[in-house]
Amino acid sequence: MFNGFARLRDTFDDLSDRWERRNDRPEPCPKCGDSSQVRVIAYGLIRNPRKGTVMGGCCISEASPKWRCLRCKSEFGLS
Ligand SMILES: [Zn+2]
Repeated sequence: MFNGFARLRDTFDDLSDRWERRNDRPEPCPKCGDSSQVRVIAYGLIRNPRKGTVMGGCCISEASPKWRCLRCKSEFGLS
């Protein structure tokens, strides 16, 4: 039972790592082609958003974009 929990936690840590890595590489903006101004949009109630994260509201839906371009203000990438 205890080992099962530990394994579950390892899996979760692994998933978090992968998620972090995925977020570190923004996609280039389809409108202006710039990826340096693209930020990941954070959904949910986050008290301390990470640097380089923009808030997208408290709820996430299937139509919520994943990225926001700060240069041309376009949002893209379905999460
Ligand atoms: Zn753009």
